[in-house]
Amino acid sequence: MDVLHPTGLPKPPRRRIMCVANQKGGVGKTTTAVNLGVALAMSGLNVLVIDLDPQGNASTGLDVDHRAGTLSVYDALINEATLKEVAQPVEGMPTLKCVPATIDLAGAEIELVSLVARESRLQRAIEAYPDEVDYVLVDCPPSLGLLTVNAMVAAEEVLIPIQCEYYALEGLGQLLNNIDLIKAHLNPKIRVSTILLTMYDARTKLADQVANEVREYFKDTVLTAVIPRSVKVSEAPGYGQSVLTYDPGSRGATSYLAAAKELAERGAAGGEQE
Ligand code: ATP
Ligand code: MG
Repeated sequence: MDVLHPTGLPKPPRRRIMCVANQKGGVGKTTTAVNLGVALAMSGLNVLVIDLDPQGNASTGLDVDHRAGTLSVYDALINEATLKEVAQPVEGMPTLKCVPATIDLAGAEIELVSLVARESRLQRAIEAYPDEVDYVLVDCPPSLGLLTVNAMVAAEEVLIPIQCEYYALEGLGQLLNNIDLIKAHLNPKIRVSTILLTMYDARTKLADQVANEVREYFKDTVLTAVIPRSVKVSEAPGYGQSVLTYDPGSRGATSYLAAAKELAERGAAGGEQE
């Protein structure tokens, strides 16, 4: 039997570590990591969002301090800090923590090159995290460099947000190839478990075409829930909020809740198949 939380989202049988990745910029990685993180945490699940992008957008979205000099994911990767030391509470969300990214992280791609175990520093940091966590969501930068490699070595699942726009599928082959390489050489457990269609504009035929094409190719990996293009979603980070707290009744909010529910239910229903 699934262990049901009072509000209904099942707890995964064990910690799920997911990296939110797509080297294409602006497809909704950060928006997805933030809003899924909040949605899962709102139901009482324990969630850790790791901002692994020097832009620090997930840190902004969750309103955690990430000014230069703040202890951040950089210190956990490059210095000897633990994730526990650098994780910050997210206001109003008792079961959500965020590991911020500061601008220091911009240098990390290069600094990592000469370090021992350069591909598995994040994995080691997550393994040593002492608190109970149901979901670790890693927000990747828009590149396939060492930061993204660290996320894919640490994770068992990749969540790929795909924007329902022209060119959306371009570059996906390269992303999938990279995941295959990581699977072959660094992390046999990694797999693309989840695809989320984002910025869907129901008024355009194109959005439908892209969505259909993605579903045809990726089949059941694609969540049924689709995130619509919505001004509320894009406004929320400006107030240091998720769309779920900024405008809970909006379609952006309800669709992220629906996506979180599907994600949690799939995870509990033995989403461990190859
Ligand atoms: P990057 O590659 O730079 O890290 P990203 O993939 O993380 O980008 P986001 O930052 O999440 O993408 O989104 C890009 C922009 O699109 C942001 O301004 C965001 O607010 C906006 N956006 C994301 N999702 C939606 C949506 N569903 N509706 C409207 N705007 C959205
Ligand atoms: Mg981002």
